[in-house]
Amino acid sequence: MGFNIAIDGPAGAGKSTIAKMIAKKLGYIYVDTGAMYRAMALYLLREKVSSAESEKISAKCKEADISIGYEDGEQVVFLNGENVNGLIRTEEVGNMASASSPNPDVRKKLVELQQKLAESADVVMDGRDIGTCVLPNAQVKVYLTADSRVRAERRYEELTAKGVSCDLDTIEKDIIERDRQDMTREISPLMQAEDATLVDSSYMTIDEVADEIIGLVSSWK
Ligand code: C5P
Repeated sequence: MGFNIAIDGPAGAGKSTIAKMIAKKLGYIYVDTGAMYRAMALYLLREKVSSAESEKISAKCKEADISIGYEDGEQVVFLNGENVNGLIRTEEVGNMASASSPNPDVRKKLVELQQKLAESADVVMDGRDIGTCVLPNAQVKVYLTADSRVRAERRYEELTAKGVSCDLDTIEKDIIERDRQDMTREISPLMQAEDATLVDSSYMTIDEVADEIIGLVSSWK
């Protein structure tokens, strides 16, 4: 087994920014598992499957071949051979990912892929159930969270910088709803693993968060 760092937490806590940074500093591979659920959601949307049709989701998810690769150090997600990185960051796909991810067949397929990736390589993997289900033996586990208002403000700034007009209260409401869905589902709900370190990034800079996690890695070694 490689050295595994698991980072879980709610939407917008900064998991991917932090995970990418740590992976770069340590020379590890970054695995964004949310992107896999998003690629699956894109497939379901394209196939016109609704999030309420669980049997159809179970059947359709078998047709979606999801894999990842790396280009210039960036993770690229392939859906049936197509690079879908540019298509999965929309609210529509995010909401569908959250609505379809409780499906056991979707999870089984993607968890197997994630476990295989971590078997032989040193990885920083982020998601919702990495420390609790995917990599229960990860050497370092972090539960990264932040106040929902702060998370909404970060998202608001990101969108505004891109020229997308948006409303802070609506964004916060969406974030709270997504958290609720992810935390209350029966299979692999989002929760802090018993042996995970809680990091609240509300009033921390990105560098401070990264340093704290790298500190955990150093003290393990
Ligand atoms: O992290 P991201 O927003 O890209 O994840 C999209 C959705 O995918 C989440 O809201 C969650 O429902 C699902 N997901 C999951 N397990 C993971 C990663 C993401 O269920 N390990």
